[in-house]
Amino acid sequence: MRKQIAAANWKMNLTLDAGEKLMTEIMSSSFALSENQCAVFAVPFPYLINIKKHSDKENNFFIAAQNCGAEKSGAYTGEVSAEMLNSIDIPYVLIGHSERREYYGETKDILSKKLDLALENNLKPIFCCGEPLQIREAETQNNYIETQLQQSLFHLDATEIKDFVIAYEPIWAIGTGRTASTAQAQDMHAHIRKLIAEKYGKEVAESISILYGGSVKAANAAEIFSQPDVDGGLVGGASLVAEEFTTIIKSLKK
Ligand code: PEP
Repeated sequence: MRKQIAAANWKMNLTLDAGEKLMTEIMSSSFALSENQCAVFAVPFPYLINIKKHSDKENNFFIAAQNCGAEKSGAYTGEVSAEMLNSIDIPYVLIGHSERREYYGETKDILSKKLDLALENNLKPIFCCGEPLQIREAETQNNYIETQLQQSLFHLDATEIKDFVIAYEPIWAIGTGRTASTAQAQDMHAHIRKLIAEKYGKEVAESISILYGGSVKAANAAEIFSQPDVDGGLVGGASLVAEEFTTIIKSLKK
């Protein structure tokens, strides 16, 4: 069975002390993950090394970066390369979050370069895709997501894409308190899996974890995650509250 993943995205929140306190609370709530489950914490760059000490990769609790640079190395002030993340043993990286696309002008070509660099440096990308509200209202979300995948992801080969993680995050549901219905989430996840099957074959499509993101919280996680093509969630706001995120992790399918 493919991995079921609860991924926290702290975004630009929390001081180091508050982040360490949050991790201590989550990690001390003594629950064991099954072999197929994992929890991932995407934390700000300056906290990666400290917060990694609170994680427990033997028991499937991992750390992620929220971004990586689109160049290998060099004169790119303020950037953090995939190689740097690998050198401090960070296993996951978010790529293509809608906030990066929207506020920092990350284009399809930039995302495609970031994916290549992440893979070259043994990082597992969590590739985010999702449509804005007007596309959902026009009911053209399936084509929109297909284009996003074709433009940034589908140049990869089957070995690179196997066991990949995709996060479907409808932009209208991020941080808005408005969640996609379970049917909307399932329909889109099934669509994404079908597109991957058409391009790479059924076996690869079945190996890919597709997370839902957009106002997931303790109260709705179990219902959303129960859908057959929903393999967990990428969680912003609710991941900043220990009790909330602990319940979300516990809502993963076994
Ligand atoms: C996110 O940051 O990816 C996200 C889904 O945020 P929220 O859970 O707050 O909607």
